[in-house]
Amino acid sequence: MSDIKSIDKWIAERTGLGEKLNQSNMEQYQTEKLRQIIGYAQERSPFYRKLYENIDISSLNSIDDIGGLPLIGAEDITRQGNQMVCLDQSQIKRIVTLTSSGSTSAPKRVFFSQDDLELTVDFFANGMATMTGEDERLMICMPCDKPDGIGDLLARGLERIGAKPYRYGAIFDYDDAAAVMQQLAPDCLVGIPGQMLRLASLAPQMRPAVVLLSADFIPDAISMRLADIWHCEVYAHYGMTESGLGGGVECGAHSGYHLRHGDLLFEIIDPVTGKQKPDGQRGEVVFTTLNRQAMPLIRYRIGDISRIIANPCPCGSGLKRLGKIEGRYTNIIGLGEGKTISINQLDEILYLHPEVMDYTASLTSDKGEWTLLVEALLVEGALLTDIERYLKDNLDMQIKLNCGGGFTTNGTIKRQLKLNISEGKI
Ligand SMILES: [Zn+2]
Repeated sequence: MSDIKSIDKWIAERTGLGEKLNQSNMEQYQTEKLRQIIGYAQERSPFYRKLYENIDISSLNSIDDIGGLPLIGAEDITRQGNQMVCLDQSQIKRIVTLTSSGSTSAPKRVFFSQDDLELTVDFFANGMATMTGEDERLMICMPCDKPDGIGDLLARGLERIGAKPYRYGAIFDYDDAAAVMQQLAPDCLVGIPGQMLRLASLAPQMRPAVVLLSADFIPDAISMRLADIWHCEVYAHYGMTESGLGGGVECGAHSGYHLRHGDLLFEIIDPVTGKQKPDGQRGEVVFTTLNRQAMPLIRYRIGDISRIIANPCPCGSGLKRLGKIEGRYTNIIGLGEGKTISINQLDEILYLHPEVMDYTASLTSDKGEWTLLVEALLVEGALLTDIERYLKDNLDMQIKLNCGGGFTTNGTIKRQLKLNISEGKI
């Protein structure tokens, strides 16, 4: 059952490449799709018409030529999102409004048609088939409250393969979630990394076979602790609203994300120059939606840090994969003298400690002197002084640690390290 080839098989069918599916033919397919989506967007969207007015699309003959096309980013959706839409209002099935945490910028609105959503359900069905199957019980701890939202689309994909999803939603009350888990005894859980760890700390006796984590950043520390507490196999999924929620999923080899190649084209660029980076090199993730009808995103910079893996996967797939997401460029905070810190780096340190269930952190600068303030939720009986010593051993900076209620999320806001810069005393 745990065979990633089902994703390649699905891609082979969807792209019509069949037995001829390999990286080279996939790139040819993607180049053709790219030409089509640019033509479609130019014809229907004022934004893309203007963006490509001086560009000769007929010169796009191979996937390498994509590097000459303009990049777009979140600010384009914020400012000109409506100009990117390619369908009439009546053909729009769902609009997702995204607000960034701690940001005063206007929200982004991302538009989807019925067919766009169907592609995601189809990916979820085939992606999940690699780790679960008929009659298996799943507890979905992702937002489930909105029709056509992530939890709903995932549940629909699961029902399609005969699995039995339970739409629990993002966790707000951990005792309640633990009680439901006890009653349901799910074979598989799908959730947000920090929330799954906290749930595992409260219900360590449970034995789900599989946990699928999905979020912008999945700390290795959490995957390891979940595997340790629940004796389960932990998989990672990568996707965001802009990619149509689904993007890529790990196989049992845990060697990068197997991508939705037929629908999405991923690239890695240098975040400063915007130039494409060769396979294997770290840089900023950029993707293009090859089939999106309502609002195509062409060369969209997502801000995440990763690399393309070109070597064949141990599972047998020869298609390129996306490496581990190593954080976001905007999350890296310079501390002077070449030192940096990020929420992702803290996650790997704090979540690795077996007595930390959850935490929030902020950075304060007082006349150039940085202090990291951590509020941690600890397991019963844990000593604050032990955790403090552990943090000081692992981080070369001033640290203040308090016990706190931990982090809560509705599952849609990306976590950040809060920054308070003042000239006054802390
Ligand atoms: Zn694989």
